[in-house]
Amino acid sequence: MKVTEHIKKADGKALFSFEILPPLKGQNIQSIFDAIAPLADFKPPFIDVTYHREEYEYKDAGNGLLEKKIVKKRPGTVGICSAIQNKFKIDAVPHILCGGFTKEDTENFLIDLDFLGIENVVALRGDAVKNEIYFKPEKNGHKYASELVTQIQQLNRGIYLDEDLQNSTQTDFCIGVAGYPEKHIEAPNFDSDIQFLKQKIAQGADYIITQMFFDNEKFFEFVRKCRNEGITVPIIPGLKPLTAKSQLNMIPHRFKVDLPDALVIETLKASNADAVKAIGTEWCIAQSKELLQKGFPIVHYYSMGKSDNIVQIAKEVF
Ligand code: FAD
Repeated sequence: MKVTEHIKKADGKALFSFEILPPLKGQNIQSIFDAIAPLADFKPPFIDVTYHREEYEYKDAGNGLLEKKIVKKRPGTVGICSAIQNKFKIDAVPHILCGGFTKEDTENFLIDLDFLGIENVVALRGDAVKNEIYFKPEKNGHKYASELVTQIQQLNRGIYLDEDLQNSTQTDFCIGVAGYPEKHIEAPNFDSDIQFLKQKIAQGADYIITQMFFDNEKFFEFVRKCRNEGITVPIIPGLKPLTAKSQLNMIPHRFKVDLPDALVIETLKASNADAVKAIGTEWCIAQSKELLQKGFPIVHYYSMGKSDNIVQIAKEVF
């Protein structure tokens, strides 16, 4: 079932979804099943699975030369989605990127998903790869997520890249796109970011799912701005419970979001890892309760592959 149908069907019942990462190459899918199993009991409507493009690493090849090695550290997004749907009967939502994909790759990826009975995708641009400062699209790929949304919507209308294939099978993907309550790092300002978000919706995105945030007021302001600009699709808030002191520095650096003073001060005072986790979980519970109370029907959690704290939140909130 489509994410938007899940939201409609909920009809006032509070829901939560969560995101998982494919395991590192060489690891077993069992770790994913183990993370999902305790959460599956709460009947989440869908589970997102991130996509990780290839990275480049340079190795000394001797004689003053460098060898470029392509590594894919977390393959398996499509396989994991299919496995989740088969094993847990929960809709899986693969993320799909512009980065690393030509339009042809994208079309073939979508055909695979369609054949596997996957009805939902989150369409993203992706970040610059390591060793590059700015994002670079593939030759004959997409530069912005809005272009990717357009291609998916075209396939939904049976429009393939090859003109000879017109009037072929139509797909029926429900498309999510990313929104940034604290602005995307590269956007010149908040307003232009919202305009580009609006463009993704105009191209046919069905809902917005947000970057993590720790201050609900920032999310409410973001939603207000979106609604003022005529964006009417559902906006799903994304939350991440803090689990380690190191995240106080890592999260702002990597995701370009602010952590509120109260959370930082409490976390710094914590004397051990369990105490940090408890503070992060409590903070996330409070955020979740307020979001639901303000009428947002669904909260999305960034689990980072660990589910014990999400289970605790789910028990308390849902
Ligand atoms: P876009 O919407 O294309 O926007 C990128 C930037 O370009 C923004 O600053 C925007 O304002 C600007 N912009 C957009 N359109 C135009 C235009 N026409 N002209 C000029 N500027 C424009 N990354 C992964 O690699 N794998 C994942 O699985 C993944 N999952 C994610 C899930 C969520 C919910 C979120 C919030 C992010 C995720 N990311 C993932 C990270 C994401 O790929 C990065 O944040 C990326 O830098 C931007 O992606 P986007 O889809 O928001 O890009």
